Amino acid sequence: MNVFFVGAGPGDPELITIKGKNTLEKADIVIYAGSLVSPELLKYCSNSAIIHDSASMNLDEVSKIYRDNRNKEGIIVRLHTGDPSVYGAIQEQMDLLALWDISYKVIPGVSSFQASSAALKQQLTLPGVSQTVILTRISGRTKTPPLEDLALLARSRATMVLFLSVDQARSVQEKLQPEYGGETPVAVVYRASWTDEKIVRGELKNLATLVEDAQISRQALIFIGDVLQSDYEKSKLYDAAFTHGYREASL
Ligand code: SAH
Repeated sequence: MNVFFVGAGPGDPELITIKGKNTLEKADIVIYAGSLVSPELLKYCSNSAIIHDSASMNLDEVSKIYRDNRNKEGIIVRLHTGDPSVYGAIQEQMDLLALWDISYKVIPGVSSFQASSAALKQQLTLPGVSQTVILTRISGRTKTPPLEDLALLARSRATMVLFLSVDQARSVQEKLQPEYGGETPVAVVYRASWTDEKIVRGELKNLATLVEDAQISRQALIFIGDVLQSDYEKSKLYDAAFTHGYREASL
C-alpha cells in the first residue's frame, strides 16, 4: 500500500485541500487522530474504508498497520490535524516507512495558526512592525532547546504564535513580558474554524487572567506582537509610488 500523510486542516471539514479530500475518498485504511481531527471528515471516506482512531494508539501500533499491509494494493491515509509538518510527529513514521521500503507522500494542510489568523482577520507580517513569524511552544514534557527559550526568542519582538502552551499562560506571560513589554497586544484563539471557536484579546500583562477567565486550557493558540494593533506602514507592493516587476510606479 501507499501511505499518504494528509493534513486535515484545523477543524472545519471544508478546510482540507481538494487533494487531501480526493485521497481520503480513495483510501482503504484511514488512521486519524480522534482527539483533534473532526469526525466530519470521515464522511468523505468510502463505506468500505477501515477506520482507526489513533488517539489511544502508540507509534508501534500505528506502524504495525503500515507494515501488515505493505504488500497489499491500495492507499492508507494517516490524517493529521492542521498541517502535518507542524508538531505532527510524522518524521518518525516516515523514517520507518523508508526503512521498510513502503512509499509515502505528504499532502499539506491548513495549519491552525493560519485558521486562527483568518479568524482574527489579522495579517501576521506588517511593514514597519514585524516581518517575521515565530511558531513555537513553551518548554513542556517535550523540552525545547535552550537557545529557543521563549525569553530569548522574544528579543526580536517579532510576531509570535505559541502552540501547545495555553495551559501554561502564566509562564508564557512571565517569560515574554520583560522583552515585549506588558502593553503588547495578545490574542488567544480557541478551536479556530470549529463551531465553538472563541477569541479573546488583551495585553500581555493580562494574558494569564484572560485565559483563565475564558476557561481555555487546550486546543488554542496564543498570538503576541504589535501587528495586533493598527499602527503600521502601508504595503509597498500596492503603493502607487512603488515600482516592481509587474507594475511601473504611477506617482
Ligand atoms: N499540526 C497542527 C498542530 C498540532 S499540535 C497544526 O498545523 O495546526 C496541537 C496544537 O495545535 C494544540 O495544542 C493547539 O495549540 C493547536 N491547535 C490545533 N488545532 C487548533 C485549532 N483549531 N485552533 C486553535 N489551536 C489549534
